[in-house]
Amino acid sequence: MFIVTLIQIILLIEYRYTIFRDSITDTDIALFTIILFIVAIIGFMQTVYINNSWKKMETHSNSLEKAFLSKEAYLNLFFENAKDSIAVFDLENKIITVNPAFEKLYGWKKRECIGKAVPLVAPEYINLAKERCNHLLNGGSFDMLESKDMRKDGTYFDAQMTLSPIFDYNGKIIATSVITRDISYKKEAEKLIIQSEKLKAIGEIAAGVAHEVRNPLTVISGFVQMMNNDKSSPYAFYTNLIEAEIDRINLIISEFLVLSKPHAMQPKVFKIDKVISDILTLYQPELQLKNIELIQNWNTNNMMINGDANQIKQVIINIIKNAVEAIEKDGNISVTVEKTANQFCSICFSDDGGGMEKEVVEHIFKPFYTTKTEGTGLGMMISEKIIQEHEGQITIDSEYGKGTSITIKLPYVDN
Ligand code: ADP
Ligand code: MG
Repeated sequence: MFIVTLIQIILLIEYRYTIFRDSITDTDIALFTIILFIVAIIGFMQTVYINNSWKKMETHSNSLEKAFLSKEAYLNLFFENAKDSIAVFDLENKIITVNPAFEKLYGWKKRECIGKAVPLVAPEYINLAKERCNHLLNGGSFDMLESKDMRKDGTYFDAQMTLSPIFDYNGKIIATSVITRDISYKKEAEKLIIQSEKLKAIGEIAAGVAHEVRNPLTVISGFVQMMNNDKSSPYAFYTNLIEAEIDRINLIISEFLVLSKPHAMQPKVFKIDKVISDILTLYQPELQLKNIELIQNWNTNNMMINGDANQIKQVIINIIKNAVEAIEKDGNISVTVEKTANQFCSICFSDDGGGMEKEVVEHIFKPFYTTKTEGTGLGMMISEKIIQEHEGQITIDSEYGKGTSITIKLPYVDN
């Protein structure tokens, strides 16, 4: 540009404005050329400087953009791959977004729940959840909170949650986030530990009680045996029963010990009919008192079982006791004895008592599970254990409000 301007000036002076030529000296021209040269150099330097600055700014803004993009990408990767479920809610508790772990844990697909307030809390915890929500909207948060949440299919799980409000740049709450972890396995383990602690405690108590109870029992048993030996006694039938029952008390005590110590059964062949009728006789007075009618259906006789008669007695007593407790007053208990396929003797006890809810049936064989204020929750657990040791089966069929049928099946041996 500098050169072009110089040529232009020379040409203008030489050919067009010849009149000026004489008045312009060589010094003027030299001075003008130097000024022009200096201006050109300043211009050049400025251009180089500005160019450099532009380049710098461009690289700076490029790297900022990159940094921003990678931060967002990392956050997104973290959100998508987090092992814990993450859900973001708006102020009306509608879901804004969820991650794949949420979909896996709760069973709701992202597209199903976005923009909706889907039920994620067990109904009995709904009021607590509302309180938590209000606390969050007032700026509070919760860390490692334990509660029960609900999956899409209605099943519950033990959840550990961290809830926090999300603020905008002005410090205003715009959303809330919930990070959830399924801790059912941890709760289950805790329950097992408590259960085994309870079993240990029972074992220790049983060992102590056994000694105290067995001593007076030995005395009673001695007198009963004496009465049994008296051939003229009019109460022989009852004293025989009492003696048998004392043996059973001894066994119940041992049974408690079974809970803490493994024990081996010594099987013997016995008549199941005799065991059943002995117990029914024993219960007759109580049934009469409570106006409970006992219906007996003997579809077979003289069945022999290989096992421990006292243990089977215990099972039958547990079942009848539960039936009586379920009826309380005025009702029927029926006992049906029959042969089934595969060499099994089936004994079914039906009552028209209160019946059981599904949840009770599901937990009935668990130790210490009881719905009664004075129950031990051991009866059915011990019964199942005994029946299983006899290679039999025990099944429950119950309808809430209608009644219960409990069937035990034991393999019989041919006479
Ligand atoms: P407990 O009798 O000490 O409660 P069990 O193990 O014998 O313990 O029974 C567990 C629970 O099963 C009872 O608390 C009761 O709720 C339920 N149950 C058992 N048998 C019956 C029955 N015949 N009718 C209704 N509920 C029953
Ligand atoms: Mg019971």
